[in-house]
Amino acid sequence: MIHPERYLVTSALPYANGPLHVGHLSGAYLPADVYVRFLRIMGKDVVFVCGSDEHGAAITLKARKEGVSPKEIIDKYHTQFKDSFEKIGLSFDVYHRTSEELHHETSAAFFKNLYEQDKFKKIESEQYYDESISQFLADRYIKGECPKCGYAEAYGDQCESCGSSLSPTDLINPVSVISGNSPVLKKTFHWYLPLDEHEDWLREYILKGELDGKEHHDPKDWKNHVIGQCKSWLDGGLEARAMTRDLDWGVDVPKDIPEADGKKLYVWLDAPIGYISATRQWAIDRAKSNPDFSEDDWKKYWMDDQSALIHFIGKDNIVFHCLIFPVILKSHGDYVLPVDVPANQFMNLEGQKISTSRNWAVWLKDFLERWEGNEDSLRYYCIKNMPEQKDSEFTWKGFQEAHNNELVNNLANFVNRVIVLTNKYYNGVVPEFDEDISLEGNDDMGMPSYHETEMMDLFDRLDQMCQSIRNKELRAALKQIMEISSYGNQFLQNHQPWKLQKEDPDTVKVVMNMGLQIVAALSVAIYPFLPFSSAKMRQMLNMPELKGEAEFLDLLDHLCEGDHLLDVGHKISQAEHLFSRISDDAIEREIELLKKGNELEAEAGSEFIPLKENIEFEGFAGLDLRTGTIIAAEKVPKTDKLLKLEVDLGFEKRTIVSGIAEYHPADKIVGQKVTVVANLAPKKLRGIMSNGMILMAEDQNGRLEFVAPPSDFENGHQVR
Ligand SMILES: [Zn+2]
Repeated sequence: MIHPERYLVTSALPYANGPLHVGHLSGAYLPADVYVRFLRIMGKDVVFVCGSDEHGAAITLKARKEGVSPKEIIDKYHTQFKDSFEKIGLSFDVYHRTSEELHHETSAAFFKNLYEQDKFKKIESEQYYDESISQFLADRYIKGECPKCGYAEAYGDQCESCGSSLSPTDLINPVSVISGNSPVLKKTFHWYLPLDEHEDWLREYILKGELDGKEHHDPKDWKNHVIGQCKSWLDGGLEARAMTRDLDWGVDVPKDIPEADGKKLYVWLDAPIGYISATRQWAIDRAKSNPDFSEDDWKKYWMDDQSALIHFIGKDNIVFHCLIFPVILKSHGDYVLPVDVPANQFMNLEGQKISTSRNWAVWLKDFLERWEGNEDSLRYYCIKNMPEQKDSEFTWKGFQEAHNNELVNNLANFVNRVIVLTNKYYNGVVPEFDEDISLEGNDDMGMPSYHETEMMDLFDRLDQMCQSIRNKELRAALKQIMEISSYGNQFLQNHQPWKLQKEDPDTVKVVMNMGLQIVAALSVAIYPFLPFSSAKMRQMLNMPELKGEAEFLDLLDHLCEGDHLLDVGHKISQAEHLFSRISDDAIEREIELLKKGNELEAEAGSEFIPLKENIEFEGFAGLDLRTGTIIAAEKVPKTDKLLKLEVDLGFEKRTIVSGIAEYHPADKIVGQKVTVVANLAPKKLRGIMSNGMILMAEDQNGRLEFVAPPSDFENGHQVR
């Protein structure tokens, strides 16, 4: 779509169970905001929506752990997100939340539409069930060993160690997160979206940019890593995916659907529909305040094929936005599909991955509290280091350098010199100048005047920047703007108005007028990136603050015509500080806080796991523990941690699969005495029937050691 009539831009709905950090900001929020602000000052019709994602098992689990209601959790984070986003200058047209009634209604109706069109498959299956709390264990309610990498704490929906997408039945030795009990399998049913039936058109859509045989978008606009990830999913074969859950927190499956009782929408069906309900809320609010608009205006953005839908997300959400949500939208039939999903990669911090559990992060909320007034500096540094094509890195030193060297020494310095000198020489009035005065390089007769050439040059630079933003290459665009500012500084340096003013004030007028035009252009061009600084620059220039109403388009038109941006005789205001230097001390303090927070968290992690509930003696007596010796051991292929062991129990030999390879390589443990849970029901693991379990002691770092009798103890005897 080359010239869409309107744009609908979304940022990933942040999940309301933990704070936001700079990685989130650089991934899905800042790029969208820059892009949207740009569209607005180019006079485009755009709606920018986001909101908090407030359903799903992780929220109820956190609530349970903290002894509060899920509502308290989501209210806390929703308020925090909204506040932080506002402070960092994200210009959403609406920031909604999925716990709103409007969203429940929208997503339930959407589900019902698909149900009535027979787009789901009702599939019965056996799922894990925790009998002690009478609950099915979906997603994060169950954990166990990852079958792909052997990580011991993998969740029922995903392994956070290797990133594999899992289903609860994939887990090895699964346990209920709530009770710690081993779950049982119990029959239930769910409505599944048969993704496999959509594979053909998805391929056309993703790989060729075609939909229903027509050109939909240019696949070259999409990032390589986005298409690559989609392709590997498609090549791996798509499977039907359950769109409902047996949970008590979320959007109800509409009650008039038979057997809907107790079923909730899967959060990954419910969340992206949050973009739709947010757009509805925006239209309702706008219609309320302005009778020219209708509550139904949201439909234009979602249902008219002249609308460009663009999802800004992090790379962990690619499959949902490029495959699953498009299938949901197309199954409905009335909706447009995204023309681009510009997913970013991840941002690391000081040489390590950002980690919530280790408290290794620059939290947005903390930054905004400690660095009030430096919001644009964070925006600047995060855009400069945006993980557009590959992972990038946040360092506090890097933040300081970018701020001091580029924002203070370059941008603020240029703007300040122009404003201060204009006030000093001309009492703040934009000077009239002699068009015929030429500066070096422009003295040929018949050539455009100095100003004309400069204005055309400025136009070219800004035009390049526009192209970069359209391509969503924001790092490049930011660099191009800063080059204009560097050029301005160089220009002042070359002509030294502060020296020339005494001997040649007429030439100084040419120079200062040009300097003012460049500052005026920068005040607009910088708006998508540094909105707070743009506002300050506009104030210094005594020009109206930008409202996102085609101001950049106006400016480009002016430059095209060779018109000035600031008229002769216009009176500017006084200079004010754009950026002040950041000291080494302030940066050292941040680095220390980061390290200390991390240590505190590590200490907290060394606390002992709480005791399980008391059991009666009979509970223990039911266990049959026996002494044994490992007589053979080999690695289970394609796993990191699993070993296939042969254990001599004296009266028989057993095959046991055990996840200990990381601490105990196969070639080091033959002859090791062990204690075996000998009456554990046999279970197939990675195709191997495992008959029993080896007792291991595990510390807080995951170190595993054998709990075993001395080496001269005979095999087969009871441990009591
Ligand atoms: Zn894994």
